[in-house]
Amino acid sequence: MEREKKLHTDNFGVNVFSDKEMRARLPKEVYDSLKKVVEEDGELTKELSEVVASAMKDWALEHGATHYTHWFQPLNGFTAEKHESFIAPAGGGEAVMEFSGKMLIKGESDASSFPSGGLRQTFEARGYTTWDCTSPDFLKEDRTGVSLCIPTAFCSYTSEALDEKTPLLRSIRAIESEALRLCRTFGDHKVKHVRVSVGAEQEYFLIDRELYNKRNDLIFTGRTLLGACPPKCQELEDHYYGAIDERISAFMAELDEELWKLGVFSKTKHNEVAPAQYELAPIYTTVNIAADQNQLIMETAKKVAGHHGLVCLLHEKPFAYINGSGKHNNWSLCTDDGQNVFEPGETPYDNLRFLMFMCAVIKAIDRHSDLLRMSTASVSNDFRLGGYEAPPAIISVYLGEDIEQVFRTLAEGEGAHTLSGRRIIDFGVGTLPKVYADRSDRNRTSPFAFTGNKFEFRMLGSSMSISWCNTVLNAIVAESLKEITDRLEKAEDFDREALDIVTETYRNNFRVVFSGNGYSAEWEQEAERRGLPNIRDTVDAAGALLTDKARRLFAEHRIYTGDELRARYEITLEFYAKRLLIEARTLAQMIRTEVAPAVGSYMAKLAQQADLLRDQLRRVGMAPDVQMEKLSTMAEQARALHNAQTLLEKHLEEYTGLSNDYDRAKFCRDVLLADMAGVREVSDILETQMPRSMWPFPTYNELLFSIR
Ligand code: ADP
Ligand code: MG
Repeated sequence: MEREKKLHTDNFGVNVFSDKEMRARLPKEVYDSLKKVVEEDGELTKELSEVVASAMKDWALEHGATHYTHWFQPLNGFTAEKHESFIAPAGGGEAVMEFSGKMLIKGESDASSFPSGGLRQTFEARGYTTWDCTSPDFLKEDRTGVSLCIPTAFCSYTSEALDEKTPLLRSIRAIESEALRLCRTFGDHKVKHVRVSVGAEQEYFLIDRELYNKRNDLIFTGRTLLGACPPKCQELEDHYYGAIDERISAFMAELDEELWKLGVFSKTKHNEVAPAQYELAPIYTTVNIAADQNQLIMETAKKVAGHHGLVCLLHEKPFAYINGSGKHNNWSLCTDDGQNVFEPGETPYDNLRFLMFMCAVIKAIDRHSDLLRMSTASVSNDFRLGGYEAPPAIISVYLGEDIEQVFRTLAEGEGAHTLSGRRIIDFGVGTLPKVYADRSDRNRTSPFAFTGNKFEFRMLGSSMSISWCNTVLNAIVAESLKEITDRLEKAEDFDREALDIVTETYRNNFRVVFSGNGYSAEWEQEAERRGLPNIRDTVDAAGALLTDKARRLFAEHRIYTGDELRARYEITLEFYAKRLLIEARTLAQMIRTEVAPAVGSYMAKLAQQADLLRDQLRRVGMAPDVQMEKLSTMAEQARALHNAQTLLEKHLEEYTGLSNDYDRAKFCRDVLLADMAGVREVSDILETQMPRSMWPFPTYNELLFSIR
């Protein structure tokens, strides 16, 4: 194959209206003003937006764009777009390409079908999209053309957030200002901004498109609802980091190329543990951009898979028996002059500051573990959490032995003079030891692990937007940062107060710190003794949104109003129920229209064979016992399948009588899930007993092991 020899850096970011592009195309004072708006959360004037829009239009048209769209993230987990062409009448039947400041900054959409959790009635269904100038505009290309995409926030007429981005932006403002305040109390006046940085590692499966097209469960629900265990799963762990198959490699190369053009620093790719499972990690960036980029990564992966006859499955648990897919959210706070506040420092004050930020995180996680759990709750992630490959539903924090030891030493006043064999250096700030963070020490079973200079939150599901969990994380840490800073600002003895904070955190919040094996059964019991919540599913997790504690937190930091939280609660349950309902219906249909008829045909075939063989066998003094025995087993299984199916269908009928989201969600969890498991159990046995040629769907063997 002829390989195009060109520098990939030439193409990096070509589809982004980047800082470089803006600097080149905007008058200097306009560029400076825009930068100020972006960096200092300022207001975008009409004049400014006109000039920017005009430059943006020229750039987009030069790149072949014919349309623009406000690109936003409604609460259905996807990104939404509505394309408008630039074309406008110029008089005399002529056309011009038009794009104004108004079109850039504001869009009105009759988006009445997006979930609003009761925030909007359809008769007042106006929704507004407003330009988020902190995330760059970009071009989307496909075979049919090029569109300019404008990242936007999506609100109701009365300014309630109807999307993932608005609360995220509000939470960023909250945590960044609190983190800056804390830096200032340490006398650091050089720092102008503190930014939340996030790198989200993305796991996914790739399967053959032709096989996918033969399974309604994959098409309608994204996961297999049936399928017998293949002879080999992931026991040998031979897929993990294995040589990448050429067809997959071609997909990954194209995906990288596309993402680089979109300005995404796609960096790492490898085979994951489960067969047909892969991972991509970009280089971290500011959280708002990371969230937009993660949406683009998921979207682009799906699109590019199609070019290779593949389907990219982002579902958290597409297959039983093997690992599911998660998304690791690596999170840290960095100052504009390049300091990571979670990096233990060289000077005593840096160390103390580091400890204050650590205290803020530990306290936040302990106090709001229910909210953090909620931020990862979805019907599909429920199937994964607590599985042997994924963190349990209990939130705990892993700090590493060194950091734990520092807290212990300071809080218990023990005269430990060494940390992990290294000498503690007394810097003169009380008894503050030099803090080490051992980067090589990794605990892969912790849902929230300190990994040297960042926290890795591993509970998030592969298909989820990263916005919501970061909104929660930012909010809860902002709250404890504020409490810490308030105390330090008022303190007469700054060092003493800081050490008191360390001691209190150790005494009151360290129950959430755990460094053992998070996947073990003993941990569940231990966690219960410590009083840590173990919230197993979305229906139970959703309640965290309605507590007074949550309302106070989000209201104080102006991230969510009570109504918005309530809406999020409703939407969570509504989607939970709807998705399970679709699963149950899909399964019922697959059994009724495909499995049951196939089983019937096979039984008829066995009976026919027995009849055919009877006379012949009699001559040698035998009877068609084998066939008859098989027939009778099949008949028993067919009866069991029919019973399980009838029960499922009866309950599907019952579902229609339920009237509120909570009852529906609960019914799905308690009744439909069990029915589906019952159906699957019998069907999977039947699959192993039927001739492959008569089984109506591609099997796990084929789905997971056929890509060559
Ligand atoms: P792992 O060992 O889990 O594969 P890596 O150290 O390779 O983790 O990093 C995984 C992700 O974390 C990458 O997306 C990377 O860019 C991101 N990351 C690294 N440092 C930071 C940081 N300070 N803040 C946020 N994300 C970070
Ligand atoms: Mg990781």
